[in-house]
Amino acid sequence: MTLHNTHLRAQDAVSRLDTFIALSDFDRPTLVVDLDRVEQQYRALDAGLGRAQIHYAVKANPAEEVIDRLVTLGSHFDAASKGEISLCLSRGAKAHQISFGNTIKKPSDIAWAWDRGITLFAADAEEELEKIAENAPGAQVYIRLIVEVSEADWPLTRKFGCDATKALELLDYARDLCLEPVGFSFHVGSQTRRAEMWIPALDALAQTWKAAQDAGHDLSVLNIGGGFPAFYGEEVDAPEAYAAKVMELVTERFGDVRHIMAEPGRGMVAEAGTIVAECMLVSRKSERDLHRWVYLDIGRFSGLAETEGEAIRYQLETARDHEATGPCILAGPSCDSADVLYEKRPVQLPVGLKSGDRVLIRNTGAYTSTYSSVGFNGFPPLDVVCI
Ligand SMILES: *Cc1c(COP(=O)(O)O)cnc(C)c1O
Repeated sequence: MTLHNTHLRAQDAVSRLDTFIALSDFDRPTLVVDLDRVEQQYRALDAGLGRAQIHYAVKANPAEEVIDRLVTLGSHFDAASKGEISLCLSRGAKAHQISFGNTIKKPSDIAWAWDRGITLFAADAEEELEKIAENAPGAQVYIRLIVEVSEADWPLTRKFGCDATKALELLDYARDLCLEPVGFSFHVGSQTRRAEMWIPALDALAQTWKAAQDAGHDLSVLNIGGGFPAFYGEEVDAPEAYAAKVMELVTERFGDVRHIMAEPGRGMVAEAGTIVAECMLVSRKSERDLHRWVYLDIGRFSGLAETEGEAIRYQLETARDHEATGPCILAGPSCDSADVLYEKRPVQLPVGLKSGDRVLIRNTGAYTSTYSSVGFNGFPPLDVVCI
């Protein structure tokens, strides 16, 4: 399959953003999102996914302008809470375009969603099915399967889903509860860089699919979740080619499923955003210290939560990038010692970097604004500007 030229793409992506950023002053860390870039990404994923319906995972970036653009484009939405459903409805999405995809829901929220016309719910446990049956009688449910084998950079394996045996029991149980069990969902793990990395998970899931059919269930919905990657420095496939390859792998294993849902989050919005941050301090702990410490005005608690375990490595840019560079430990501004972004693998930053310098953090449109605390230590939460 074709690999895309990540460099070219990164430059294309930033030009509109960069013009805006260069002409603006920011008094706090700010995520700037290019909505045209979101649209470009939607169109590419949609083309690659073919007959699968996109349900954008709202949690990746719930900015109203992002939702508006996606509503205009005809996207459907994967919502995890009453708040997200209400956001989508208020921006013009129709109830039939919204699935309640969290496997952990409050009974009152299920009832609220059902009242507003949401008919599709996720579950991975008996008690959840009971809640749905009671508060959304007759609703459609899909059972989330656990993915044991993930090659993702940000795996979601343990918390969600159930194993195959349990999933089959839950289909039966849903039927007993007079719900309509329509199929299965899974999530291959976020930031699964290559489409081929889906193979082990799809192989395992296809067996469960077949077992359910053999047990007499007429399955009509396969929800393949998210996992579509963004460029963080390591090569990834272009979105259309990636999505097309995933669909090819899905079709080989699942045949002609009536409805396929895909829930890209990161892959839809990450590359559309750049965070404008500022260097607050450059220091060494002692004369002998090998590495400089660089403190930014944004950290683990103000939007960069995915640096946890140094899992996601954001690309940094400064106006001094033509200068010589040296290794730095990168940290946030708060008084929590966990607020260190990259230490095991230091980052290369210009030797002349100093307090007051602007630092751009690339491809940060996903999972940043929503991870920002309201004001830990008095630092303002990440601001969002959509252009
Ligand atoms: C978070 C989430 C997604 C989006 O995942 P990405 O890896 O960002 O594409 C999709 N589906 C569900 C159920 C999720 O919880």
